[in-house]
Amino acid sequence: MKAQVFRGVNQLSYEEVPTPEVAADEVLVQVRVVGLCQSDIKKILYPLYEPPRIFGHETAGTIASIGKDVSGWQVGQRVVVMHHIPCMRCAYCLNDNFSMCDVYKNITTTAGFSPSGGGFAEYVKVPGHIVQNGGLIAIPDDVTFEQASFVEPTNCCLKAVKKAQVQPGETVLITGAGPIGLMFIMLVKYFGGKAIATDLLPSRIEKALAVGAEAAFDARDPQLPSKIHALTNGVGVDTTLLAVPSDKAFFQALECTRKGGKILFFAEFPDEVEIPINPNILYRREIDLMGSYSSSYRLQSMSTDIVFNRRIDVDALISDRYPLKNLSEAVEKAIAPTAETYKILIYPPNGNE
Ligand SMILES: [Zn+2]
Ligand SMILES: [Zn+2]
Repeated sequence: MKAQVFRGVNQLSYEEVPTPEVAADEVLVQVRVVGLCQSDIKKILYPLYEPPRIFGHETAGTIASIGKDVSGWQVGQRVVVMHHIPCMRCAYCLNDNFSMCDVYKNITTTAGFSPSGGGFAEYVKVPGHIVQNGGLIAIPDDVTFEQASFVEPTNCCLKAVKKAQVQPGETVLITGAGPIGLMFIMLVKYFGGKAIATDLLPSRIEKALAVGAEAAFDARDPQLPSKIHALTNGVGVDTTLLAVPSDKAFFQALECTRKGGKILFFAEFPDEVEIPINPNILYRREIDLMGSYSSSYRLQSMSTDIVFNRRIDVDALISDRYPLKNLSEAVEKAIAPTAETYKILIYPPNGNE
């Protein structure tokens, strides 16, 4: 089968690799479409993981073969593949910190080499632990593979919105209106909050308004804090969701978030970035800083409900479709987005049908 193999920093190689063979408790899925995630881009561009690997984890496809001990699934069924499932027993899992669980981190879907998601291939193997514990989700007939590929990123965003406890009527600042920021806007609106977005690209500022933001501004606008205070009775937003890895965005968030409010780090910063902060900002203004990484097992069914029942319009997020062989080009496009670049989807040969 064909796969995009990570051979070193910024070195993707489109190669013929062996199609994975399934053990008795495993399932093989033919990838129909896979979303390109910011985290994939980081894994490709930074020396975070030893090559060779096959990344890609926002996978929707069709079951191609089934191990002899697997029940409840059939060849040909359309499925979303969750690339991680927690153990549900460790100290982290018992506290709902599923993304810190060692089993969650260490067991994942694979298309060969060290298991790393494996969605950037024609076929991906789903290990027994993931098959047995809810990691395959059937896609309803009226939902496309493309829509279904949004279940994983929706869960990640939903986890952040839930962790920040966004309540109906609250105002939420979302810094960055790329694919993640736009999804945050949709989710905040769905839960009854008011979203205010910032970005550097005029097209994304407009797009933010089109998908439901109450207001959207150029992040460089020196009047931004006063404009946001004007929109929030002089108080500031209840919560800021940082969807860009920018220290400037963080300091803006500090100016724009109300006393007693929350700032949630969603974007992953480059490791060398450190942010100096006067602790009295946290003490005197009682601002809570928090982070949210990856998805939550507990929010799986809500995520599928949101995507499958079209509570948010994920189609509006799709801007570009690339064949798997041009993954490098897709990565370049994502790093240097044009005016109309939002979510990029990747198609293996014989993909979405
Ligand atoms: Zn992702
Ligand atoms: Zn665990």
